[in-house]
This record gives sequence, C-alpha cells and structure tokens, in this order.
Amino acid sequence: MISFQAVTKKFSTNITALEGINLEIQNGEFIFLVGPSGAGKSTLLHLLTREYKPSEGKIIVNDLEPSKLKPSQIPDYRRRIGFVFQDFKLLDDRTVWENVALALQVRGMPEAEIAKEVDRVLKLFEIWERRSLFPRQLSGGEAQRTAIARAIVGKPSILLADEPTGDLDPQTASSVIKLLEEVNSWGTTVLMATHNREIVDNAKRRVVTLKGGQIVKDTQEGKYEVH
Ligand code: ADP
Repeated sequence: MISFQAVTKKFSTNITALEGINLEIQNGEFIFLVGPSGAGKSTLLHLLTREYKPSEGKIIVNDLEPSKLKPSQIPDYRRRIGFVFQDFKLLDDRTVWENVALALQVRGMPEAEIAKEVDRVLKLFEIWERRSLFPRQLSGGEAQRTAIARAIVGKPSILLADEPTGDLDPQTASSVIKLLEEVNSWGTTVLMATHNREIVDNAKRRVVTLKGGQIVKDTQEGKYEVH
C-alpha cells in the first residue's frame, strides 16, 4: 500500500510543489495522475522513489517510511519500484538486451538467471527480435517497450511512469498502455502521470487530478478533466 498523509513538498520558501496531499493507493491499483504542467505530478512520483523527502507529513510505502531510510537502505528500497520516463532513458551504448540485463546485474543476480529472465521478458514484450539493436535503431514504441521491460524485469511491486506516451503517436501510445495494463494484471501497482486525454478517457481507471500542488479530484473510472 502507498499512503500520503498530509504531505507537503517545498523546494524553497516560495515554491510549494505539493501541499497537504492525502492519498491512499491499494496494492494492484492502476491510477492516472493528471493535471496542468507544474501541478506537482512529477514531484509526487519522485517522492515515492525517495529522490525527495516531504517537507511536512508522512509517506508510507509497503510498511516502510522512505524518508526514514538510511542511505545504505535506499538502493534496496528503489529496487522494489520500477520507473518509466517519457524519454526512455536507455543507455545509448548498450543493446536492448544489455539495457534490460543491467537492471538485474546491479542486484548481483547470477548470469544464467539473468539471461533466462531477460529472454523471457523480451519475448513477452515482443522485442526479442530487436535484442541486439542499440536504442537509436529503435522506433519510439520499441524504445518504450524496452524501457518498460527494464523497469519490470526485477519484479517491482510498484511501477511509476512519467508521461510514458508523451512522444508517441496515438496507436503506439495505446500499445504502450496495453503493456502497462498487462504489467498491472500481474499484481503490480501502476501510477502513471499523463497529459493524454484519449488514453485516460478510454481506460476507465481511477484518476487523481492535481492542480497547484493539491488534489482537486479523485474518481474511480475517472475522466481527463484538466483546466
Ligand atoms: P508537473 O509534473 O505536474 O508538471 P512538477 O512536479 O514538475 O509538476 O512541478 C511542480 C512545481 O514544483 C513547479 O512549480 C515546478 O517548477 C517546481 N519544481 C519541481 N521540481 C523542482 C526542483 N527540483 N526545484 C525547484 N522547483 C521545482
């Protein structure tokens, strides 16, 4: 479970990115986070990765309080969270296969097991044929499938996505959403920040709307209502 309890995040005395956020997310939910630019969506995601600490209030993630972790505990905490970005953030000098494998190598998993897991995920995501290509040789959709493969290969309990369809055409964007829905169907909690009205309106999922750092709406089977 993820719980935000009266969370405020200030970057300086005059920049309040989030204010008084109360939000409960159950395991296995799929949630869209919407709102105008500057509403605080990215800040909320980065609080979950423990890149930022709340200025006030408390965040609980699966019985842990990320802001109370010692520096030595943070890498282990982050391994339980997958992150997908608009610009993929793949390593240019590594192949598709190597980009995904790296996520397991940093955990010290034995090479034979890594090979098995990476092959399995690449086949499942239909990018196995692209495994020896470098990121610049991929289409936007293939690059995002690779980035999602890398994010989930370690079986995180939570997947965060910040505008993962931002640069993709509508058809590719919808295939990326299908993939995120598949990951969610395995039990992974998915929290996705987006500006994509069509995707949000078609998905009929919970929609949390932020404005000026506050939650202004939180609806099951919600719509994209950003003003
Ligand atoms: P969104 O993702 O909804 O566009 P952000 O979370 O990126 O919104 O930003 C919320 C507010 O916090 C904005 O006013 C933004 O300028 C500010 N902000 C975000 N990150 C930082 C930072 N690292 N330093 C200072 N201000 C920041």
